[in-house]
Amino acid sequence: MDALTVSLFLPVSAGLSAAKLLQESGLSPVVLEARDRVGGRTFTVRNKETKWVDLGGAYVGPTQNRILRLAAEYGIKTYKVNEKENLVHYTNGKSYPFKGSFPPMWNPIIMLDFNNLFRTMDEMGEEIPKEAPWRAPHAEEWDKMSMQQLVDKICWTSTVRRFATLFVNVNVTSEPHEVSALWFLWYVKQCGGTMRIFSTDNGGQERKFVGGSSQISECMAQELGERVKLQSPVYRIDQSGDMVVVETLDKQTYMARYVIVATPPGLNLKMHFTPELPPLRNQLIHRVPMGSVIKCMVYYRENFWRKKGFCGTMVIEEEGAPIGLTLDDTKPDGTVPELSFYFLIQRICDIYSRVLGSEEALHPVHYEEKNWCEEEYSGGCYTAYFPPGILTQYGRVLREPVGRLYFAGTETATEWSGYMEGAVQAGERAAREIMCAMGKIHQSQVWQDEPESQEVIARPFHTSFFERRSPSVGGLLRFIGFSTVLSAAAAAGLVAYRKGLIPRS
Ligand SMILES: Cc1cc2nc3c(=O)[nH]c(=O)nc-3n(C[C@H](O)[C@H](O)[C@H](O)COP(=O)(O)OP(=O)(O)OC[C@H]3O[C@@H](n4cnc5c(N)ncnc54)[C@H](O)[C@@H]3O)c2cc1C
Repeated sequence: MDALTVSLFLPVSAGLSAAKLLQESGLSPVVLEARDRVGGRTFTVRNKETKWVDLGGAYVGPTQNRILRLAAEYGIKTYKVNEKENLVHYTNGKSYPFKGSFPPMWNPIIMLDFNNLFRTMDEMGEEIPKEAPWRAPHAEEWDKMSMQQLVDKICWTSTVRRFATLFVNVNVTSEPHEVSALWFLWYVKQCGGTMRIFSTDNGGQERKFVGGSSQISECMAQELGERVKLQSPVYRIDQSGDMVVVETLDKQTYMARYVIVATPPGLNLKMHFTPELPPLRNQLIHRVPMGSVIKCMVYYRENFWRKKGFCGTMVIEEEGAPIGLTLDDTKPDGTVPELSFYFLIQRICDIYSRVLGSEEALHPVHYEEKNWCEEEYSGGCYTAYFPPGILTQYGRVLREPVGRLYFAGTETATEWSGYMEGAVQAGERAAREIMCAMGKIHQSQVWQDEPESQEVIARPFHTSFFERRSPSVGGLLRFIGFSTVLSAAAAAGLVAYRKGLIPRS
């Protein structure tokens, strides 16, 4: 049995970054990790076919300054995801090359509808406080609605409804009918808006880490040395005595003054708490499921798509298509040509072949996949989602300490929650909460802004006059209807005047 200043369990970015900060502040944290590896929802596999491949969290981009800071500290470099050539939008059985974040829509009605959807989501996001979405002026109304209901309300065309579904699927690995509109709007907002979250260039998918994202956790774990205990699933936390007692499945007990729980909230259901968790926290952990995703990578002898003028990004809209978005995952030195995608498996090469118009797509040389739905210590991925009605009822206790228990994990973040960046923000915030409780820092120092990365600079997204001012389809129809009524009234008036039915003076 160890006597510790602070015990934490559950790493990756969140638990390990908390432990790192605590150790640097002169405390003695211990990290209890259930798996036989660190990294959690990031998982870099090394083999001769792929050199290295990220089977979990991988992409980073501008404004994700905390994870970029940690990477830079360990000398881990980033490289840009290839987007030099054209992206492809596959819809109605045809491929349309394009440049930019979103595929252009040529039908004027669809164009208005598409523009209005994304503008409306960003406008609604503006009134949602990222640290307390439950305080938004329309929080209750929007939380009672699923994202599907909101999409049905905003969108007039099936094309844009289909794209909205893809947007939800790709960003939060769940279906629009499963997630609260308030939660999804908040999620997009705290990532910086629809353009930042969805874009490769200047967005969340701009870069990857050379050598893989797990290196960051591995470096932190190396620094912490013996303090990281692998294969130590925590199942009991007892804070009824002077010290918090934490017990693992192999019957090791650890004693600490404070504990940071850094798992997705739902995984706390596997733990026994003494005293029992307060009712709201206990109910919360029953109500926040994880998304569902299988990450797959198909490898080819060469990146034939680039020869055809395509960068490898495919936005695929097809009824029943197993995938919605792909990215080129060729190594930065041009080796190991690969296309990665997320499943929401069988007809993959067939669909690549149709979208890229190439036989070569039917002949991959290697394949990797990771089914996150079967992972006991993740429960699914990328992140927990809030079904309708939960965020306003239970959200406020998400990171509220319970006695000497503090909560981290990307789900508790207020910037890039759901991402590696959010995990680091959450871990460091929880570590500072403990330092504050110990009287080492002031309350005002718990939440800290992060200076911008020197290497990865965020550029603002500019919107055109058309994007800001064009009407929605509904607005246009109302205008046409109104104009028609006015014109009809004017015409009828003219006829009546000519026929002398209206007095001339
Ligand atoms: C396929 C996929 C793609 C993704 N893409 C991206 C991306 O491109 N960019 C991005 O930024 N993010 C991405 N993410 C999300 C990102 O990986 C996560 O947000 C982040 O890693 C979460 O870190 P965390 O520390 O909060 O949680 P986790 O990584 O889940 O860490 C929690 C840890 O707790 C451990 N644990 C669980 N239960 C117990 C227990 N009882 N006792 C002890 N230990 C326990 C787990 O083993 C785990 O190591 C992706 C995730 C997946 C799976």
